[in-house]
Amino acid sequence: MVARRFAVSHNDSTFDVDYDTDDGFEVLKYQLFSLTCVPPDQQKILGRDDQIVSDESDFASISDKLRLVSIDGVEEEIAAEVKEKSDKLAMSDEELARILQAEEEALMMQHFVASDNKEQVEQRIRPRVNQVQMYEDPHRQEMARKTVPVDKLEEKALISLGREGNYKPTKVEQDNAFLLQLLFWFKQSFRWVNAPPCDSCGNETKSQGMGVANSSETLYGASRIELYCCNSCSNITRFPRYNDPLKLLETRKGRCGEWANCFTLYCRAFGYDSRLILDFTDHVWTECFSPSLGRWMHLDPCEGIYDNPLLYEKGWKKSLNYVFAIAKDGVHDVTKCYTRKWPEVLSRRNITSEPALAAVLSDITRELRKKLSAEVISALEERDRIEMDAIERGLYSKDDASVSLPGRLSGDKEWRIARSEFVSDEKNSLSSSSCPVRRCIDDHVTKIYSAFSPVLSKLIEYSPSKKAAAEILEIFRNILVDLKNSPFRTRRTSVNSVSSSSGDIFNKTFASFSQLLDALSLKSELGVNGSIDIYLASDPVKTSVALPVVFHALDYVIYNIGQCARLDSRSLSWPLLKLNRLCSGLVLASGEELPFGIATCAFDGTRMSKWEEPNGAAGCWIIYQVAGNRMVELVAYELMSANDAPERDPKDWGVGTGRSGERVRGKGEGKKEGLKRELVDLAGHKRVLEGSENGGSSWHLLDKRTSQMFDKRFQRKTFTVSSPGYLANAFRFRFLAVRDKNATSRFQIGSIDLCAGSS
Ligand SMILES: [Zn+2]
Repeated sequence: MVARRFAVSHNDSTFDVDYDTDDGFEVLKYQLFSLTCVPPDQQKILGRDDQIVSDESDFASISDKLRLVSIDGVEEEIAAEVKEKSDKLAMSDEELARILQAEEEALMMQHFVASDNKEQVEQRIRPRVNQVQMYEDPHRQEMARKTVPVDKLEEKALISLGREGNYKPTKVEQDNAFLLQLLFWFKQSFRWVNAPPCDSCGNETKSQGMGVANSSETLYGASRIELYCCNSCSNITRFPRYNDPLKLLETRKGRCGEWANCFTLYCRAFGYDSRLILDFTDHVWTECFSPSLGRWMHLDPCEGIYDNPLLYEKGWKKSLNYVFAIAKDGVHDVTKCYTRKWPEVLSRRNITSEPALAAVLSDITRELRKKLSAEVISALEERDRIEMDAIERGLYSKDDASVSLPGRLSGDKEWRIARSEFVSDEKNSLSSSSCPVRRCIDDHVTKIYSAFSPVLSKLIEYSPSKKAAAEILEIFRNILVDLKNSPFRTRRTSVNSVSSSSGDIFNKTFASFSQLLDALSLKSELGVNGSIDIYLASDPVKTSVALPVVFHALDYVIYNIGQCARLDSRSLSWPLLKLNRLCSGLVLASGEELPFGIATCAFDGTRMSKWEEPNGAAGCWIIYQVAGNRMVELVAYELMSANDAPERDPKDWGVGTGRSGERVRGKGEGKKEGLKRELVDLAGHKRVLEGSENGGSSWHLLDKRTSQMFDKRFQRKTFTVSSPGYLANAFRFRFLAVRDKNATSRFQIGSIDLCAGSS
């Protein structure tokens, strides 16, 4: 650990910055961001003799005086950065020479062991070529589309874009988002089979070898019939391995062959340019051409993982040899897309010689394109050429080591171990150690929380009891459930005046819900017979994005009403009702899980998403930069435990401000001596350091908690900041310990809500 104080000059100002290498270089950049407004990715930090300071610099010896240059808009600076990056990614000549030599040697070896025999490889590819033709059958496509909840998936696709702030997606963006939803839905709707349960009693079975196919099985291309004997009743259960995806739409089960076969039909049924990927080391998956990426994208339906071609070699530790892409109009060798160890892979390719293989593929491709027009063929050939160029380029680029890939998840543990594809679950991670700065798209969350204030004041005014107040909120909740169940593009519901006693109060208090309806992009109108019509006010996706947030908030409010002693304005003390929830800030974390555990998930107001730090059990941090660099006073915050794995819950943490800023006049006086800064060095020993009080940009500790325990999942806990009175534009949570560090390497949190004092 090295702790230094630097004087950083930028334009005409100089800032004192304390930096501790334990915090990580990103934290230094973030501190500079909060001081200068130069975003971290546009910062260039220069030391003595204009040497570039990076995370690899020796912080013990670099100059006290640093200079910050913004590379924004300065073209040559950007060009230099890009060059530096591509230099890092590109291999040195020496490395390249070594690889080319290894490749040559492998080819030489292949020359000795492999013949020019084309049959064996052709025998394995041909059946798949016939199989992909089935995806073009309009009847099969129609039947496939009928099994998909299209409206739901379209809504989910639009929500996922809306959550990124994209409410006006292009057709290409929508198609891409829909494809991913199709993948996730498919993974949920298809079942993995090792040994099928007994037909007769449902108990476990064990393999009894192969049987002979009957006529109803051969009708759907099942030539291999696996037999399983029941461990309890000795009944024999048949497991026909169907090849016709039409049958798979009905059975919805199998191993990777069935999964990829059926999923590729779905992709074709929704018009995606798709191909079936056949890996000779016994796996099958799908690729779709992505117009937004301008290339083919890997999709593994068994795993629900996309665009991670190194998953098999790096994650599953597979020793690949041949990987072929089989489409309706061509067959390609795409092995090089899935490896970064080409010479090693080449040394395992001994079924046939490379020229003989290339001839087989081009023969089949020519055959498949026989009936196409010259124009279409030349377009396909152009695309092939672009793909081959990109593959060759990718092969010699360095592996992206910052992303670690997960082991195989499909199939049970024993089956994976038997295939040497098992990696312990704790290491299953798509985590990224260098996260980008992300913006929270969560102003709707703040709007919804704020809208509860008028509702609760009215309830306190009119309700005779806690029970009655909770009932009113339940009535409102049911109205929203009706809306949620209606088609998302035309959501509408009609509320007839409720005639019970709580209905009477509901009618009296209904006007106070208008702010909440507004936050949901809904409108209400008095209809005929005194009913109230509630319908969409603007973009339907805004309502779709907001609905889960309001459901979770309602549950929380109802729960709190049940818990409080009396229903009055003081008993409802949770901060979200009284304070300004910060939103739209920028977030940077020490690490995050892709794609579902990114840092901004802690701020989206929904329960099921969470921020997950794959290496966070030993300590991790998240920095929140207030929108527009506004100075605010943090007075309280709420943390919510995530959906599962209590061992990953936060136990000890500290909250600091990123900039000492100004004291709020009159507050916190007399506490000046008490500001302490807590750090944990790499060995995990806690130490308390004196923090600097004036000037500079040290991290001042605002609040510290130890031995906290979340008893339940989705449990919210409110913390009032112990040393308020600071105006700051950035806050850092340092999570020092999780509930059980022996059981996990991970940290996770369901949500973080920051509440500012009213200014
Ligand atoms: Zn049985």
